[in-house]
Amino acid sequence: MKEQISSYMQNKENEIVRLADELIGANTENPPGNERLAVNIVEKHLKTHGIRYDIFEKIAGRANIVGYIGNGSPILLVACHLDVVPPDNGWDTDPFKSVVRNGRIYGRGANDNKGQMAAMLVLAKFLKDNESRLNGSFLLIGAADEEKGSELGLKYLLDECGISADFAIIPDVAHNMKIIDVGEKGALFLNITSYGQQAHGSTPEKGTNAIWNMVELLNQLKNIKFQRLSHELFSHPTLNLGTISGGAAHNVVPAKCEVRLDIRYLPGETEKEIVGNINEIITSIEKNNPTSKFNITIDAHLPPTQVPPDNPLVKIISMHSESVLGTKPIPRGFSGVTVTKQLIEKGIIAVGFGPGDEDQSHIANESIEIQELISFGKIMGLIIFDILK
Ligand SMILES: [Zn+2]
Repeated sequence: MKEQISSYMQNKENEIVRLADELIGANTENPPGNERLAVNIVEKHLKTHGIRYDIFEKIAGRANIVGYIGNGSPILLVACHLDVVPPDNGWDTDPFKSVVRNGRIYGRGANDNKGQMAAMLVLAKFLKDNESRLNGSFLLIGAADEEKGSELGLKYLLDECGISADFAIIPDVAHNMKIIDVGEKGALFLNITSYGQQAHGSTPEKGTNAIWNMVELLNQLKNIKFQRLSHELFSHPTLNLGTISGGAAHNVVPAKCEVRLDIRYLPGETEKEIVGNINEIITSIEKNNPTSKFNITIDAHLPPTQVPPDNPLVKIISMHSESVLGTKPIPRGFSGVTVTKQLIEKGIIAVGFGPGDEDQSHIANESIEIQELISFGKIMGLIIFDILK
């Protein structure tokens, strides 16, 4: 089987490049998304190879496609997203017209996540041709809206379209197949407002300066104590001061100052503990300085998620990666957020694993190596036949 998959994928370089080119050519910049353009390409491919599929569209144009191969359980799901981030400036070529140079495909989405989808589509034909050897179901998903929170994408498929699985692999973590994402930090987005009292800039003692009070709070937040400072799978927790705004003019004492914080915390801690901690700091500042007043609100919160680092999926991915690439990927916790979070919350054993350079997503002249996509197809083929054996 290994030889068969290997030679099949190795001979499909042209088709991977063609499909990646078509997908990149479908402008699915999110917002507004328009994933239907890419779904049309996937649909044509699945139809050509006799693969059953459904299209789910919560809002017109924001389409998702699910291809089905095999039958019954267990169910293994692989989801690539079809939307891309806006191209922004700095491109040497048209971001929506792929270019092949030095063995790499260039174009918006090449690395995140259309190259991966092209490789999976090519592999899907092999799986379909060998369907009788699969004991279970394989679902290949082209999802919408990943770059904006997946409300119209994977979340919608899981919550409203009856899509479910036992295992899931999300090839959206780059790192050249050298790591397996087995968990993600909690992400807590907070807004904090400091309220003061306006006065003339020449008599600041008559007012309360909301910005100075905020500065005092920020200085203390810089050294905020997290309950969980280290974890065997994760890097340390972080706090980013993302935005700050306030004040009207040189000569006005500002009555309001607002900051937005992005806190990434480790499993074992809760958002309640973190907010409680910040509230304690606020209380002590308000006690020392009775004119100061703060308000804190949670703008968004995604709790930390984790699957056991020795789960069967990790073992199977490691084994087949090693046999194709000669190196074993390392299970690791992630600071970023992928759709594995939503899958794990549904009780699905989900990990992130895939090709692409770590620094090639969301940049100008985004690219991916073609041979890496071929190797990825080989490894995924072996994984799928192993899980559904
Ligand atoms: Zn992505």
